[in-house]
Amino acid sequence: MEMAANSMLNTLKRWLLLDLLDGLWVTFKMQGTGNIATEQYPSDRPKVAERYRGAPRLNINPENNETLCIGCDLCAKACPENLIVVGTVRNKETRRLDLTTFTYDLSRCMFCGLCEDACPVDALELTQDFEMASYTREGLIWDRQMLEEGPRPTQYTR
Ligand code: SF4
Ligand code: SF4
Repeated sequence: MEMAANSMLNTLKRWLLLDLLDGLWVTFKMQGTGNIATEQYPSDRPKVAERYRGAPRLNINPENNETLCIGCDLCAKACPENLIVVGTVRNKETRRLDLTTFTYDLSRCMFCGLCEDACPVDALELTQDFEMASYTREGLIWDRQMLEEGPRPTQYTR
């Protein structure tokens, strides 16, 4: 008897679309501006965590515009993925290594930070930039120029 009553109640609820109205009520209840949780990216850029490690940058000295990198290769040796290649030539006058090329394969990077920790002169840094997507694998291999300039994401406005 009780089962039959429940079944009739359920059928009646279905006919009167009570579940649908319930759902609509929840939707309308959340329409107030205080309930908006969606981030309006890319016009509003999210703030990443302080210790976030993102796009790599090869720092240059702002006073003379020369690279801070001394070509010691320690970052490449520290990298467990072997994705950094540092090219240098010996300067006969200064007897120092001059940086010629620097490549960084982002597609294999796990952003562990071992390379920047290994750098003795803070030349290599993992920044807070997070937009590194590329349509091609080749686009993820950054050369010295890209590493010095850093990512240049499109700035959108509303
Ligand atoms: S963050 Fe880690 S995986 Fe990426 S280049 Fe540096 S050491 Fe290699
Ligand atoms: S560890 Fe630093 S200074 Fe040495 S090659 Fe890498 S970026 Fe350059």
